[in-house]
Amino acid sequence: MPAIICQAVGCACTRRSSQFMCTDHWKRLPMPLRTQINACWRAWRRGEGERDALWLDCIEAWDEAKRWTAEGEGRLGQFVPDAPRIRALRAARAR
Ligand SMILES: [Zn+2]
Repeated sequence: MPAIICQAVGCACTRRSSQFMCTDHWKRLPMPLRTQINACWRAWRRGEGERDALWLDCIEAWDEAKRWTAEGEGRLGQFVPDAPRIRALRAARAR
């Protein structure tokens, strides 16, 4: 079974499948970002509302956490947000 790797740019630490980042990176995130990620994830799990929109909310919250972490570690140049890619894919599918 492949190891699941932390989502932080440049981090090779493993994480639990239920976690977004390794414990070190998660603990360093500001509380509002952690709260936002958990809230988006729970909303998506509950599935109340439009699933595609809820999932994009999750992606955007993860992007923000990845950007914040990358900036703090001087890796902003390596950060590539996922949300624009997802939006472009959806737009292409909708045509
Ligand atoms: Zn990490």
